[in-house]
Amino acid sequence: MPGFEGALGPLRKRGGWAILYNPAVHSPGRINYTLGHEFGHYLCHRQQSPGGFQCGESDVLGGTRDQEREADRFASYLLMPLDDFRAQVGSQKMDLALLRHCADRYDVSLTAAALKWLESASRCAAVVVATNGFVQWFRRNAAAERARIFFPPGMELPAGSVAAGGDATVGSIDHAPGVWWSRPTHEVAIFADHYEMTISLLVFEDFGMMPEGWEDEPTEDAFDRFTAASR
Ligand SMILES: [Zn+2]
Repeated sequence: MPGFEGALGPLRKRGGWAILYNPAVHSPGRINYTLGHEFGHYLCHRQQSPGGFQCGESDVLGGTRDQEREADRFASYLLMPLDDFRAQVGSQKMDLALLRHCADRYDVSLTAAALKWLESASRCAAVVVATNGFVQWFRRNAAAERARIFFPPGMELPAGSVAAGGDATVGSIDHAPGVWWSRPTHEVAIFADHYEMTISLLVFEDFGMMPEGWEDEPTEDAFDRFTAASR
């Protein structure tokens, strides 16, 4: 079953429920997260979906449907309590060593730790996951959402980005405006050892006050503006 990561299913004869995960996945961090995710479905959603759940890799981490996001959030809090995560990171600038420390501490993948970092970040920030140089998905915190920062799936990674450069020894860079966004951006890039995948942790310089009325504009405007600007 290609793309299968985990499942929650009712045991018709014995009663109760079972959690399954793909035995072809060898990363303990991914398996832990999948178990937490399916347990979240069990606690939160089994009444709504008596037939259970089958979740692909993109559902377990970075899923977009409501129930997938909820199960994702459950796994994140179960495995990485926010207060403990904050205590690990403190006021340190995120880099690969610190992220790896967090991933090891909670026995999760670097992607899962990166998304937790995003949740704990007080500044305007986003995480961009790309494969073969193209954005697969991204997640942003509330400050980045307010600033309408957006990286559409399928977008080519910016030419000057660490992720596009392909050199794992670079680690992090302070970018001038215009590389990732119209503001100076700090990027930490992680090069995963499979699927040609990169994870960019981005912190954007504060935007200050937004113009009045900006909240009323739909999100689509940000996408339109982005595509117009990138032409
Ligand atoms: Zn799921």
